[in-house]
Amino acid sequence: MPLLEVKELSAYYITHVYGVERDVKAVDNITFSLEENEIMGLAGESGCGKSTLLKVLLSMIKPPLRVLAGEVNYSYDNKHFNLLTLDKKQLREVQWEDISYIPQGSMSTLNPVRKIRKTFEDVIKAHKTAEEKEEYEKLMEEHIKYLGLPLEVLDSYPHQLSGGMRQRTTIALATILKPKIIFADEPTTALDVIVQRGVIQMLKKLHKEQENTMLIVTHDMAVHANVADRIAVMYAGKLVEIAKKETLFTNPKHPYSQFLIRSLPKIGDKRQRISAPGNPPSLANPPSGCRFHPRCPYAKDICREHIPKFINYDKSHQVACFLYSDEIEEGEKIVSESIRS
Ligand code: SF4
Repeated sequence: MPLLEVKELSAYYITHVYGVERDVKAVDNITFSLEENEIMGLAGESGCGKSTLLKVLLSMIKPPLRVLAGEVNYSYDNKHFNLLTLDKKQLREVQWEDISYIPQGSMSTLNPVRKIRKTFEDVIKAHKTAEEKEEYEKLMEEHIKYLGLPLEVLDSYPHQLSGGMRQRTTIALATILKPKIIFADEPTTALDVIVQRGVIQMLKKLHKEQENTMLIVTHDMAVHANVADRIAVMYAGKLVEIAKKETLFTNPKHPYSQFLIRSLPKIGDKRQRISAPGNPPSLANPPSGCRFHPRCPYAKDICREHIPKFINYDKSHQVACFLYSDEIEEGEKIVSESIRS
């Protein structure tokens, strides 16, 4: 059984402005699974719904975001549950301790008026008993040292640390309780390349030590090349391809993934890079049928009218494109009807 199984998940931002409903279809009928000890990279342009998907997988859902359909099933240590059905107390028991999160921008996690040590203690106190607390406080220093951070970090305020150090401290905080699964949202964004390298090495080290599962969201394909086992590609709120890292880089099937890979710079190759023509669509009013059809050089009539089903191209490769199958996504109409009701 996979550690995480996402089934037909749809989550929209639903707003009402002057009596007019506006649905931003950020996550639309997404199905995939994550095996224990696997690192999956989630790729796609900014604004394609990657971060919203993470929020739903963590059940960090606040209006106007609403889950309209689907399941987020976790299975580990004899626990089996759909995260979306847990009450607040049950959620508190699994969030951070079993299911952890490295957010975009370290300042949103670290309290600017508390020393780092206090923030670590707050997390430990919230999840551990008094006896365990002592053990974890010792572990805190070991964990900081293991991750190559100086112990002085613990007695600093966030503003006294550099951006890279703050980000690495956030990663240490997110992993102090040895979670089963970690979601990282753009963990290397806004860092220079040297610091990026340090953060990537830190994530790999943690994965090796704690044997946890990771889902890393970034538009930076170099990060995926470095850490991921498999890569999922998202376009305009939908998953369009999942493949092993090597396969996706050498033999991408979906036309959008092909543009994504072809646009990457290659050492010694001076040819002009080709990226997808046009711009990503608005998720409030996405194109009919395949959402990539206005930018796709292979678009045909069926692409404009129907949504391609996410099919198994082979055992470890899935794609949603009418170039490989005529199967149409089931339930596209059911989801939109349920929003109206
Ligand atoms: Fe292009 Fe059609 Fe495939 Fe969409 S389904 S990517 S429009 S060929």
